[in-house]
Amino acid sequence: MNHLTDDPTAAAILGAVPCFPVPPVGNSPAIDALRAAKAGHGFIIGQDGVMLILRRPWLELDVPVSSPIAAHLPYGSVGPEKANLRCGLIPGGHLVQILHHFREALPNEAAAFVIWNEDTHEFAVDFPTIDEATPSRLVYRTPTLPAGWHVICDIHSHGHSGAFFSSTDNADDAHATKISMVFGRIDDPAGPVRASRLCAGGMFLPMPRSPFSGDKYAA
Ligand SMILES: [Zn+2]
Repeated sequence: MNHLTDDPTAAAILGAVPCFPVPPVGNSPAIDALRAAKAGHGFIIGQDGVMLILRRPWLELDVPVSSPIAAHLPYGSVGPEKANLRCGLIPGGHLVQILHHFREALPNEAAAFVIWNEDTHEFAVDFPTIDEATPSRLVYRTPTLPAGWHVICDIHSHGHSGAFFSSTDNADDAHATKISMVFGRIDDPAGPVRASRLCAGGMFLPMPRSPFSGDKYAA
């Protein structure tokens, strides 16, 4: 088999983000290794399309990134879509604590991170350094975490306003792998409203359910 490239820089890129055809049987040692990796990502191509396989210590994401390919391909299927939290659901008490913090900060916006330790499997809430907070603007920094800790959720409030992702939020989330959540109408007697998404691979994906345990809200 010929090399994919003779250029060392290109070889490094193709090695870091590989693309594998799916054999008719549906798996291969290379694809199994991509799926089992602790961290990394790559693509597989099957007769039913192209799938992104992305792994983090806390996340397993298999998501189609193309429609089915019209040309006949003698390949197998990429398999079902999935988005599993390897870390499990976040304890619901952390959401209660975060919403309390958001109410205390009114009328200003506020922010919180849910972080997780891959060795101890412990979750924690990190309230970040706020550079600027007003009722309509918030500037905060993603925490620099010790080795083994990961940001799972980046959550901010919109104070009394609605829950939506602003163009600033979109720019902030573009290059991250994390769950992003916005809560609005924080002191509404009917309860706050929310918007959620999974940021991965440069995409914003809908969340099928809340990442918090005991939280019945459909994301
Ligand atoms: Zn926002």
